[in-house]
Amino acid sequence: MLPIKNWAENFSFTPSHTHAPRNLSELQSAVLKARDLNQSIRVRGSGHSWNPLIASDEHYLHLDHLQGITSVDPQAKRARVLAGTKLHRLGDEAFKHRLAMINQGDINRQSLAGATSTGTHGTGLTLQSISNQITWLSYVDAQGELRESKLGDPDFNALRLSLGSLGVLHEIELQLTESYQLKEETMLKRRGEFLETIQNDIKENRHFELFYFPVGDWALVKKMNPTQEVIEQSALSAFIQKHLEGPVYEALNVLATHSRSYAFCDRIMQSFISHQARSGWSHEIFPSNRDIRFMEMEYNLPLENFTQAFDEIVAFIKKHHIQTLFPIEIRFVKADDIWLSPAYQRASVYFAIHTYRGEDHRFYFEGVQEIFKQFQGRPHWGKWHSLKTRDFTTLYPRFEDFRNLRQQLDPKGVFLNDYLKEILAS
Ligand SMILES: Cc1cc2nc3c(=O)[nH]c(=O)nc-3n(C[C@H](O)[C@H](O)[C@H](O)COP(=O)(O)OP(=O)(O)OC[C@H]3O[C@@H](n4cnc5c(N)ncnc54)[C@H](O)[C@@H]3O)c2cc1C
Repeated sequence: MLPIKNWAENFSFTPSHTHAPRNLSELQSAVLKARDLNQSIRVRGSGHSWNPLIASDEHYLHLDHLQGITSVDPQAKRARVLAGTKLHRLGDEAFKHRLAMINQGDINRQSLAGATSTGTHGTGLTLQSISNQITWLSYVDAQGELRESKLGDPDFNALRLSLGSLGVLHEIELQLTESYQLKEETMLKRRGEFLETIQNDIKENRHFELFYFPVGDWALVKKMNPTQEVIEQSALSAFIQKHLEGPVYEALNVLATHSRSYAFCDRIMQSFISHQARSGWSHEIFPSNRDIRFMEMEYNLPLENFTQAFDEIVAFIKKHHIQTLFPIEIRFVKADDIWLSPAYQRASVYFAIHTYRGEDHRFYFEGVQEIFKQFQGRPHWGKWHSLKTRDFTTLYPRFEDFRNLRQQLDPKGVFLNDYLKEILAS
């Protein structure tokens, strides 16, 4: 069997058993098989995480055959969804019921269970991560039993974001909203310019984010707001957007990394960007094309630390002449109460640091991680970091409660691999 790789291809593994259940009873049998052999089982969503959360030398499971909406409550605007459902399928199916997700991230290739199990988020100071949209869930525990938990239950805020360490999610109920259209505006701004208006921008726009390009010291600013307006994107602008996110961007990265002509390539990127606007249904506007492979580290910081942390990151990049055409993505998220949520009880800013595949990310990521640590930064669970148990114990007030619950639900560690053992069971 060929090794299985994650999306970014920064890790691979070869399991001894692969399970692709077509119904609940096959899913339960897979878990029981691992348990009876005294082995572990890891479940994959779409493999879009950078940390080896899904890696397994023993049992490996995916829910690609367990997809789709199973029922809808139109009054409450809630839908029950099979956990393996990819977000793009969820968007399309919900739209048929005139419903939509309250917020989404950058792409829609993840599975619903994978996205929520790592706290996947979009941007918007009045909005929380996708895990917060869950109102009920069912999961197969380490004994192969189907269990349920709902809003208000004592363990619910542990189960809504659990890295697949408490069981295998089978079905998830989501709070949706009436389908809505978004107007997306993008523009280029220099650092001084966007910093001047940022405090208002994050309050005045439902969704506001920055892609800061350090080589040229500018940002692609993105605002999205509900609208009734119909704004057609010109064919030329759609072409440029598609290619600037795709083959043109890849070519510029290849050129920059091979010839070290970062400043030149950065100027070419800037020349493609003008003030653009388009509108469409939310599930079509949120996702972007992300075909180019890259490395990523993302940290959540208390919102009030935004300016100081950003200044320090820029100073670090300048001091060490870090060169990459990949941006720092900056997003804003409302506080929540989920035990392992990086936004646990704090309004937050997320900084995502990227490098093109093949570029050396270690020095850059480790240096910026030190800055994040000074501000009680909590890493995105799916993205590169080098924190250990003792760090999480300090960062998360409910971390020990989570570990105790995990121990109680799965004392033999059926759902643990080496990576998770280090974090959750050491
Ligand atoms: C190009 C790209 C863009 C991204 N954009 C964003 C973004 O905008 N915002 C953001 O926050 N993150 C983003 N991410 C990160 C991504 O959303 C997370 O890493 C997410 O976990 C990936 O979902 P997945 O379905 O691929 O899950 P996987 O990576 O396959 O798994 C993630 C975790 O979920 C668990 N899991 C999967 N299925 C189940 C199940 N049925 N039951 C229990 N546990 C399960 C796995 O065991 C694992 O612990 C992006 C990643 C990529 C590669």
